[in-house]
Amino acid sequence: MPEITRRKAVTVKIGNVRVGSDAPVVVQSMTNTDTADVESSVQQIAALARAGSEMVRVTVNNDEAAKALPYIVEGIRAKGWETPIIGDFHYNGHQLLAKYPACAEALAKYRINPGNCSIGRKDDDNFRTMIEVAVKHQKPVRIGVNWGSLDQALLTKMMDENSRSATPLPARDVMLETMVRSALDNAEAAQRYGLRPDQIILSAKVSGVNDLIDVYTELASRTNLALHLGLTEAGMGMKGVVASTAGLAPLLLKGIGDTIRVSLTPTPGGDRSEEVRCAQQILQTLSIRSFSPQVTSCPGCGRTTSTYFQMLAEQVQNYITTSMPDWKVKYPGVEEMKLAVMGCIVNGPGESKHANIGISLPGTFEEPKAPVYIDGKLAMTLKGDHIVDEFKVILDDYVKSHYGKAQVEELISA
Ligand code: SF4
Repeated sequence: MPEITRRKAVTVKIGNVRVGSDAPVVVQSMTNTDTADVESSVQQIAALARAGSEMVRVTVNNDEAAKALPYIVEGIRAKGWETPIIGDFHYNGHQLLAKYPACAEALAKYRINPGNCSIGRKDDDNFRTMIEVAVKHQKPVRIGVNWGSLDQALLTKMMDENSRSATPLPARDVMLETMVRSALDNAEAAQRYGLRPDQIILSAKVSGVNDLIDVYTELASRTNLALHLGLTEAGMGMKGVVASTAGLAPLLLKGIGDTIRVSLTPTPGGDRSEEVRCAQQILQTLSIRSFSPQVTSCPGCGRTTSTYFQMLAEQVQNYITTSMPDWKVKYPGVEEMKLAVMGCIVNGPGESKHANIGISLPGTFEEPKAPVYIDGKLAMTLKGDHIVDEFKVILDDYVKSHYGKAQVEELISA
């Protein structure tokens, strides 16, 4: 795969995380707890951080939420997580940030929506107040434009200008240009009010994939500020995963995007951390970052003898997911490992040889044995009723002998 050239963006430091061209593309997420409920918010932030979220955003929507913020940050630090906590402000952010300095100080970054901080006003005093608080506490901000809450005054002005033009553009183009203008104009205003470029991140989120690609391509061509990427309101389940991947992948492949979020709608009572795993999987599939060993498995077909092969693939995947929190501490580099679980001899040995460890199960009319390949060579053959457990032992042995301390010792003795 050709190497991706990242767009050169100004690097922003958010707590202990760097965002920008020479830093890895950062995965972030957002809680859906009531921020005023400190215990639930701390639990969910910890779960998101454990899943790999490198920054977590929480809504700060009222006095109770603003008062809770310092305790949430304290609770997270007490659990050993240094994850930066970002405050999401709409409508009343200027009041809350000014009224609760402890909240303003505890947050690592403020997200400001320029479309709803000065509704009905002719000036931008509310926006200015938030920037002045950011300057006072030396906190970066994300100017987050969203098409669902786009600055209506600016949109009306640009639509009017367009209708008077000799060659008017389609309404969609005017809307996307308004989003870009809103982001850029407010970034300029933020700098006039005292923020430095290395304290500003921009985003311009829409819910349509084609619109997302167009708006970010345009934005990236007109600024060198760092960009946060995400499809807003991506949806639920497979729809959300596919739409987010379809929207983010073309931009990431062009080097656009310094931090990403996948905005999945969880099922009721579902796991919020799914959005973190999805973001990681997008980056790993594009060979941008590695987070967890990848299992290549074939879809199976009429040549597979039973569902045993599917069960093996699932159990290996689950075993990796369960082991990773421990592995990633003890065996750095393990996230690069590649596994193959294949259903028959047609592609089984070939695919297995490209993996660090591969197993090819017997297909219909094949001898009931499963050759295992390690680093491209046939290492052993498994048979009988305990193939899954035996394969896990092989996997464990490989991890212990190839990553982390073992790898360092090998390099020292070489
Ligand atoms: S590897 Fe074998 S079982 Fe798997 S899809 Fe190909 S032919 Fe079918």
